[in-house]
Amino acid sequence: MFTAVATLATGRSPANSVEKIVLTTAEALKAVLATTPAFPTVRVAAADSTGRVLRQLIRAERDQPPFDRVMMDGIAFAWADYVSGQRRFPIQAMQAAGDAVLTLENGQCIEIMTGAAMPANANCIVPVERITVTDGVAEIEADYEISKDRFLHPRGSDYAQGAYMLRPGKRVSPLDIAIIASCGETEVDVAADPVIRIISTGNELVAAGAPIQPQQIRMSNGPAILALLESHGYRRNEHEHIADDVDALRGRLAIHLQEADVLVLSGGVSMGKADYVPQVLTDLGVSVVFHKISQKPGKPMWFGKGPGDQIVFALPGNPVSALVCCRQYLIPALAKASGANETPPEFAALATNISFTPELTCFQPVKLISNAAGQTLAMPVQTNTSGDFAALSATDGYVELAKDQSEFPSGTAVFLHRWIAR
Ligand code: AMP
Ligand code: MG
Repeated sequence: MFTAVATLATGRSPANSVEKIVLTTAEALKAVLATTPAFPTVRVAAADSTGRVLRQLIRAERDQPPFDRVMMDGIAFAWADYVSGQRRFPIQAMQAAGDAVLTLENGQCIEIMTGAAMPANANCIVPVERITVTDGVAEIEADYEISKDRFLHPRGSDYAQGAYMLRPGKRVSPLDIAIIASCGETEVDVAADPVIRIISTGNELVAAGAPIQPQQIRMSNGPAILALLESHGYRRNEHEHIADDVDALRGRLAIHLQEADVLVLSGGVSMGKADYVPQVLTDLGVSVVFHKISQKPGKPMWFGKGPGDQIVFALPGNPVSALVCCRQYLIPALAKASGANETPPEFAALATNISFTPELTCFQPVKLISNAAGQTLAMPVQTNTSGDFAALSATDGYVELAKDQSEFPSGTAVFLHRWIAR
């Protein structure tokens, strides 16, 4: 089926030739992923790499710990002296964290602090709480039992120099920043952040802050898509509004195609007389990969490939549809193009019975609850129409209800897609 679509997408046929071909959700995702080219690699300051996808190995600069590390404040001395019955040790010197390593002399002890390197010739530690110091001599508590290597964190016991600490494909977390710094790296190779243009189309739309007429609608998709992208680690996003006007669309989209890697349009992809988006995109050399997916919400989604390999998502304007399509197709495409490790599918059990009769995959927004058995339960949250997005605020994501089924009893395990990646 996808081959047939690809043939139609060569540009020889007008955009609406594909309208009879409705892809399944799996086919649509596969087509999007196959069309999306990999983003190049860039080198960035390690401090700016949080949320970016690594494109290099991070290897241990040194053994960890890099020396035999003392784990207590106390004294260090030779085990052989203790075994021979010695309990009083003249204090030779003090060695704190970061101090050069001293050499212990026979029969003496060195005061050591947590984080210090074990002095040469010493192999035994007694915490400060277990000694009494009088006139420069430390005496160990009479009934305190010691063992040779206690309180010592041996060199290389966490990992060895050269060990693979982080691998390509890992999205850098704040914890990874600690690893990168501990490996001595100031810069890292990561996937380039794509330039993404988000375009809201529609004459009725008015941005927040501007005066509005009763028949007009506040523009909410653009800001929401922008925020969703940012929450997934993409930062070079800009939003703009274009009217339902062929010339305006053509002029602005031509510029966005020049400047961006990814275009995300909302609105203007249905069958209305002012739905010019597919035709204008086709005229600008964007070849259609598919138009329509057998899903609800979001059936009219259009997807194409620009003349410079840009990926172009033209989403239905209805807010719930637009957000579901973004999360379902755009976010995985960006992750794949960044080289991110695949995230394993996540499941939840339905908290109630659901009936869904149309022969479409249903993306049902849900709130997650966990039960005492440790299960994640998905509680459906009703959105009256795909334009009703107020209810979405209470949701954590949506579940996927298979196309070939209409009754989903409570407890059924279903795929879960969270709005925000974990
Ligand atoms: P369309 O897909 O252009 O037919 O739009 C479908 C519905 O979604 C219409 O009621 C639009 O007013 C609404 N809509 C389209 N774009 C947006 C947007 N950016 N923000 C909020 N609502 C929108
Ligand atoms: Mg519209």
